[in-house]
Amino acid sequence: MRLTRRAALAMSLATATLAAVPAFAQDMGTIGIAMPTQSSARWISDGNSMVEQFEAAGYDTILQYAEDDIPTQLAQVENMITQGVDALVIAAIDGTTLSNALENAAASGIPVIAYDRLIRDSANVNYYATFDNFQVGVQQAESLVAGLEERFPDVEPWNVELFGGSPDDNNAYFFYDGAMSVLQPLIDDGSVNVVSGQSGMDVVGTLRWDGAVAQARMDNLLSANYGDQQIHGVLSPYDGLSIGILSSLKGVGYGSGDMPMPIVTGQDAEIPSVKSMQAGEQYSTVFKDTRELARVTVGMVQALLEGGEPEINDTETYDNGVMVVPSYLLEPVSVDSSNYEDVLLGSGYYTEDQLQ
Ligand code: BGC
Repeated sequence: MRLTRRAALAMSLATATLAAVPAFAQDMGTIGIAMPTQSSARWISDGNSMVEQFEAAGYDTILQYAEDDIPTQLAQVENMITQGVDALVIAAIDGTTLSNALENAAASGIPVIAYDRLIRDSANVNYYATFDNFQVGVQQAESLVAGLEERFPDVEPWNVELFGGSPDDNNAYFFYDGAMSVLQPLIDDGSVNVVSGQSGMDVVGTLRWDGAVAQARMDNLLSANYGDQQIHGVLSPYDGLSIGILSSLKGVGYGSGDMPMPIVTGQDAEIPSVKSMQAGEQYSTVFKDTRELARVTVGMVQALLEGGEPEINDTETYDNGVMVVPSYLLEPVSVDSSNYEDVLLGSGYYTEDQLQ
């Protein structure tokens, strides 16, 4: 069917050229886009950017969100395969649960791009478009340390707690490992003290990246470990968790009087977190330009469907348990109050009005 469609496209291209009527755009094919959730603004931007860019390239799109429910996402992907989409772009909720569906995709000749999150345990993932996820963690930890030096120059050791992302998201391990590559030496030399002693993704992970779960864990960490001493920093891998962690900290009095706000990191430059930075609460975030990730992904799909070579820049890092998935990694950008205007407004990612 796809070949037939391509043949039809070639014919319509020929006719269109002859007749000089560029009315063939809608015949390029349909791309199924499965996104995890609308509860986080970044995925809405990802979805919108892809729809816009695929449509500009002449493709139709089916965009679906699964509200972080694994069976819902599986059903959505299976439906897209049944409907005969020409390619699938998937940001998985749980990177390990799609193997059977992707076998069906492969059997129908539908190429699959893992979007932002690696799809694990499947040979049927053609390409992976993402950011340098280890570097995200490095930037989070470097910003945490810079903030500690700035706000607590005379304190030794700095009391810090660690949060990880969702254990079913491959990215969470890269973020954590990147961050620990910076923090572990400081823990070892005594400049950072994880007072609770809680570390390791099996202990500090936050299922489904849920801010309420992070807030509850922060409440517990504070009441169990910080009766007679203050906390100075929290490694948070995602803005949605940071907001929960900050609520917990504010709830026991941090950010006022003689309890300075601890340094709290984040990721995604979501608007509530940018506003929190403006208010002097969240210290930093990591900006990942979802428009660029969409651009890379659309380019990969176009190459696959139109007979080119998708652009990649990494063939070593992302082993999904079955194969190393050829990848394109974009560069994340660390953002704090000193550069958020340049980076977020300067790039046109947000307007001034959105940050009022
Ligand atoms: C993404 C992050 C995001 C997190 C929670 C990760 O897979 O890479 O950008 O913060 O999911 O949605």
